[in-house]
Amino acid sequence: MRIIVTGGTGFLGSNLCKRLINDNHKVICIDNNYTGTLENVKELLNSQNFHFIEHDITNPIDIKEKVDQIYNFACPASPVHYQGKAAIMTTKTCVFGAINMLELAKKHNAVILQASTSEVYGEPQVHPQVESYRGNVNPIGIRSCYDEGKRCAESLFFDYYREEGIDIKVVRIFNTYGTNMDPNDGRVVSNYISQALMGEDLTVYGNGLQTRSFCYVDDLIEVIVRMMNSPKDFVGPVNIGNPHEFTVKELAQIVISKIDKSLKIVYKELPLDDPTQRKPDISLAKAKLKWEPKIQLDEGLDKTISYFRTRIGKNIK
Ligand code: UDP
Repeated sequence: MRIIVTGGTGFLGSNLCKRLINDNHKVICIDNNYTGTLENVKELLNSQNFHFIEHDITNPIDIKEKVDQIYNFACPASPVHYQGKAAIMTTKTCVFGAINMLELAKKHNAVILQASTSEVYGEPQVHPQVESYRGNVNPIGIRSCYDEGKRCAESLFFDYYREEGIDIKVVRIFNTYGTNMDPNDGRVVSNYISQALMGEDLTVYGNGLQTRSFCYVDDLIEVIVRMMNSPKDFVGPVNIGNPHEFTVKELAQIVISKIDKSLKIVYKELPLDDPTQRKPDISLAKAKLKWEPKIQLDEGLDKTISYFRTRIGKNIK
């Protein structure tokens, strides 16, 4: 098949491109490299099946060759990236990007999968989060560019499904970590590992008792591909993630124990609207996609730490 991956040089997109090339597909990777980097796909650049187009999906794009599937992954995803100066751009990427890619799917009669997010649940009052929960999002807060942008994208996907008959798939991705994460990405796993490898204290925001559930990237890519190729009548939204829940303080202690036991935790201010707890209910993914994560935090962190050691390079522990 010929498959488009938007956000293809980012963390998840580049892992997805690798998987699709390994599965012998032709991949068109579209990215404006705002948070992604060609470094993430450097081993694919020589492949005849891999084609990179530098493009911002807030603008329409025409692809002449027949496209079979579109994975829409383009969007800054780290709170540090999407807040502040990139907020308007983030909403535009979510909303205009979704429209442009849905129009492209319509033109090619392609199946299109949207990378949605656990952020659609905001500060959840239902725990663990089930797909039927409608969420508790602050519509005017500093995270809303991402939360509401992704909610609007879901809305657009379902309207194109109902009004235009487009084949859609929507996955809600919970916290994910692993190879090709940018060490300076600002998210918790990358921050802790980079800090520990550099011999710095680990920054825990707030009291560190807020929870997240961390999925290793290989598990996530597997279920994304399964979802894309699932029966036409299963459109989602479906939660995907690892339901093992940890406080961010526990995560810091685990990283310290793996890298350097002499390191300490320093407490920093909790960002505004930072969700208190998050854990996916993955019953739907288990039932419909016959999937559950295989790689638990201990093993996934070891893999990620060795990746970061090579990526950050010298002067590390
Ligand atoms: N966090 C932290 N220290 C850091 C980075 C993040 O304690 O150096 C916390 C953050 O406040 C949040 C959790 O870790 O409660 C996850 O943050 P991240 O940015 O990774 O993703 P989010 O789930 O908030 O989108």
